[in-house]
Amino acid sequence: MYNYCKKKGFINEPQAWWDDCATEVSSALIGKYITSGGNLNNFNLSFMTIDDRFSINFDHMNEEANLLVSKLLFCFDKVEVEAETLHFTAEQRATSELKLRICNLIQPYLSQHPQMNKLKAKISNIPDNQFFLVLQEIPTDTETLLLYELWVETLNETEDPNELKSSFIKKSTQLNGFSGYLVSNYQVHIPRNDRRTIIGNATKDDRCCRFCGKSNQNGAFFKKVAHAIPEALGNKNIILGDECDECNQFFGDNIEPCLIEYFNIYRVMLNTKGKNGSPFIGYKNGSIHHDGNMVVLTSTIIENIKDSEFTINLNSSKEITPVNIYKALCKITLSTIDKSCIPLLSETINWIRSGAVEEKVLPKVAFTIEHSGFTKQPQIVNYVRKTKNHDIPHVVSEFRIGSFVYVYILPFSDNDTEDFTKEESFKNYWDTFNHYSGLKTWKFFSLTGTSKVSASSVIKLKINK
Ligand SMILES: [Zn+2]
Repeated sequence: MYNYCKKKGFINEPQAWWDDCATEVSSALIGKYITSGGNLNNFNLSFMTIDDRFSINFDHMNEEANLLVSKLLFCFDKVEVEAETLHFTAEQRATSELKLRICNLIQPYLSQHPQMNKLKAKISNIPDNQFFLVLQEIPTDTETLLLYELWVETLNETEDPNELKSSFIKKSTQLNGFSGYLVSNYQVHIPRNDRRTIIGNATKDDRCCRFCGKSNQNGAFFKKVAHAIPEALGNKNIILGDECDECNQFFGDNIEPCLIEYFNIYRVMLNTKGKNGSPFIGYKNGSIHHDGNMVVLTSTIIENIKDSEFTINLNSSKEITPVNIYKALCKITLSTIDKSCIPLLSETINWIRSGAVEEKVLPKVAFTIEHSGFTKQPQIVNYVRKTKNHDIPHVVSEFRIGSFVYVYILPFSDNDTEDFTKEESFKNYWDTFNHYSGLKTWKFFSLTGTSKVSASSVIKLKINK
């Protein structure tokens, strides 16, 4: 619970207010608004829905803005005025009446306050009767953020206060038991892949390439759209602003083709649409593509091993350099990680950007197939260590495409002292990531090879009798 006053803004840190309000939603008062006097410099109000977070901010509060803010706070439900103080609950419901009240109020302000346009669009887009949270600001701490997300999710599942409380307690306990140690050591960042997400500077003039450090002022161009995950793997939404055309070209020519080639057959199976639609993969002796209904495979080399077992050879003229698969995975991490980490990762950037071919020992990459987390849009999860616990890696990423899951360490961070290519250190790290290590289907392999290997594949087919 915290207080809001016109002179000082929100005064207290929000506590774990669901402890109080899980039994009674309306008891979570976030606002204490003093309706007289004051000249607050800036004002921020954040909103959290099941699948969106947004904030509105006034940098310079004048009398008119002060009045608008007061009126806006009065639009919410369960507003109580006591003496000169306004109370309202963090949990609000997007009823058609509430939406209409807010939209009507801000209509006259749309031209002067661009923030109000955003608020109008966002509020209108919340599905009718969905619960959402009104907050001072979106928490930056992962642990708190996860709890808030869980709270919104639970609010929208049940209206029975007892069920709400027990369900929330159950879920939050699960979250703690599941990865409490992990969450206390790492910030977890998952860029959204279900809508356009621009990482870095959205304004072209302000861009500075995170790979070569160049900006518009010293000769870099930012004319191309740089996909943070290769478009050929199905990523349409996660875009990196801070990647110059030259680096984009380098990665597209040297690093990414190996990763794309590596997933070729799987891309066809998933019917992944890249820039040129569904992939048609030609081989020396056949081809594979998806015709919209099924996978079509042709080959001149089909061997009958047993009655019910066939192998199909697809001889490719292309070659893959294993280390480039690792580099391409790291490129995805570097494209999606928070900008503040970049200065500590200059050696990693140099490793993927320089094109050097000397063999380096690298930590093993973990791989498994997990059908329950199937995602057609490729997804990246970045874990960035926030503590000084050097027993565990600075940056770990999970890359997921379809049912394939890869977990890897970002090597050469200046913030690592431990050598995770050593078996004992690797085991210690892996045990820490207990939501992964609990599963016993992981395979660990080395992607250190700098020599080219054939991209040919053999597919085995069995007839189930
Ligand atoms: Zn660059």
